[in-house]
Amino acid sequence: LVELDRQHLVHPVSSFRGHEERGVRVLRSAKGATVTDSEGRELLDGFAGLWCVNAGYGHESVVEAAARQMRDLPYATGYFDLGAEAPIRLAAALAERSPGDLNHIYFSLGGSDAVDSTIRFVRYYWHSKGQPGRDQFISVEQGYHGSTTMGAGLTALPGFHDGFGVPYAWQHKISSHYLYRNPLGDDPQAVIDASVAELRAKVAEIGEEKVAAFYVEPVQGSGGVLVPPKGWIKAMRDVCAELDILFIADEVITGFGRTGPIFACEDEGIVPDLMTCAKGLTSGYIPMGAVFMRDHVYETIAEGAGAKAVGHGFTYSAHPVSAAVALEVLALYEGGLFENGVKAGVRLMAGLESLRDHPLVGDVRGRGMLAAVELVTDKVKKTPLPASMQPATRLFDRAWEQGLIVRSFAQGIFAYAPPLCCTDAEIDAIVERTRKVLDLTLE
Ligand code: PMP
Repeated sequence: LVELDRQHLVHPVSSFRGHEERGVRVLRSAKGATVTDSEGRELLDGFAGLWCVNAGYGHESVVEAAARQMRDLPYATGYFDLGAEAPIRLAAALAERSPGDLNHIYFSLGGSDAVDSTIRFVRYYWHSKGQPGRDQFISVEQGYHGSTTMGAGLTALPGFHDGFGVPYAWQHKISSHYLYRNPLGDDPQAVIDASVAELRAKVAEIGEEKVAAFYVEPVQGSGGVLVPPKGWIKAMRDVCAELDILFIADEVITGFGRTGPIFACEDEGIVPDLMTCAKGLTSGYIPMGAVFMRDHVYETIAEGAGAKAVGHGFTYSAHPVSAAVALEVLALYEGGLFENGVKAGVRLMAGLESLRDHPLVGDVRGRGMLAAVELVTDKVKKTPLPASMQPATRLFDRAWEQGLIVRSFAQGIFAYAPPLCCTDAEIDAIVERTRKVLDLTLE
């Protein structure tokens, strides 16, 4: 398998960068929060796959829901006014649970194409309003919004641009709220004020009449789990409302209980104009993403379209099997997993906080079951681990040796997103295994 993988399988991101020498690790099965590799070794998955298996592995009822749907009706297009029961019920269930009047739901296949779809809908919205010149988009430094060409345009991580020549000139970004290394220090209000001023300045620089939308993750995930200070999102939302700019919350990671509530926007009581989800929606059992639109967005697009067809959609939009899985996963969440996730999140944060005194730990941050530990070589100067330590691969390997899967970023950041089903003992093991990795790294 390792040899076949080397020769033929192109991995996202990790192929082309020495993956060949390292070789693939093959996973064979999983249950709850534990995965088993091809040699029969059990590991705790502190990252829920790729921040997605929120419900945990091995739920028979999910398998049954998928099998039942495959047997009854494996596919129905949403084109030509056709449909199937599961996606209709899912859309209704999500509309009922979403903040405010985010009542209209378009299903995609994952997160990137959900983000891409919002760009199409936002453009159509402004055309419908007679303002087609609003074609510029703003996002936040360190933000991640996908790997499709349009999504990568909004993604403000250099690796997704360098060498690709992403052909959209409309990528504008404002600074991240990254408190730990923020030149403004730890003063949350100073960070909020600076971000508000920067967003206003960016809009003025582009020209207010040209700005279509502002994209934000309620907690930045792939940028290194960067948690904004309380009030930051609300302040940014208010600026957008005032300047008539659509505010888009990308909840691909934060949705479905990751930070506590079903959607992280609820943490601050805001209602975005559009919202994207994926990952936890089907808990990684099958691909699916979603775009939520407020009433005014949907109605404006419909008015603009009149009798014309709005040419956007995929063959597998609103796939019945994915929808059946999502409905069953939602039932599991509401049958106790959301509740357990809130409890486990408190324990996880407290456990990781107990690592703060470790000589290698510069910062501990997070919200709910989404957390990070940032490693430094000097706690006072906040000196990041040197590239020579190869944190992304070496720390990952070291954790693996301790029986723990976590994401490790090049800057020396461990990211945690365990399944919401974790027991107290599993959360404690995640913390203790991390402590061991830190001790071994210090030696
Ligand atoms: N937006 C955010 C905030 C994400 O974290 C991700 C994936 N990590 C995406 C979009 C893209 O989703 P996908 O990988 O399912 O295309």
